[in-house]
Amino acid sequence: MKDFRYIDGAAILKLDREACIGCGQCVTVCPHRIFSLTEKKAEILDPNGCMECGACSRNCPVRAIYVNPDDGCGCAALLIARWFNTLIGKETASCC
Ligand code: SF4
Ligand code: SF4
Repeated sequence: MKDFRYIDGAAILKLDREACIGCGQCVTVCPHRIFSLTEKKAEILDPNGCMECGACSRNCPVRAIYVNPDDGCGCAALLIARWFNTLIGKETASCC
């Protein structure tokens, strides 16, 4: 999914490394491989690759990850719509 990217600087993704217990769930569930583990702590490698799907935040056992709480933001929905519309030859309206 590396070609499915939103615009740079749009995603709101925050990590509390102090709270992180290094379980690796965020590394496993993120479809864009945004996280890695360094010295038993998660690290954000590519914040602009985040599409705000929320999988990392929902699977973090200590709530160390904050993703834009507005589920209606539509970044993930926009990416999917853009992909689908490309297949059928339509333009996609902008987000928000
Ligand atoms: S919100 Fe989704 S795309 Fe963004 S870092 Fe979390 S799992 Fe990855
Ligand atoms: S899911 Fe949460 S606790 Fe686990 S590695 Fe990621 S940030 Fe750390």
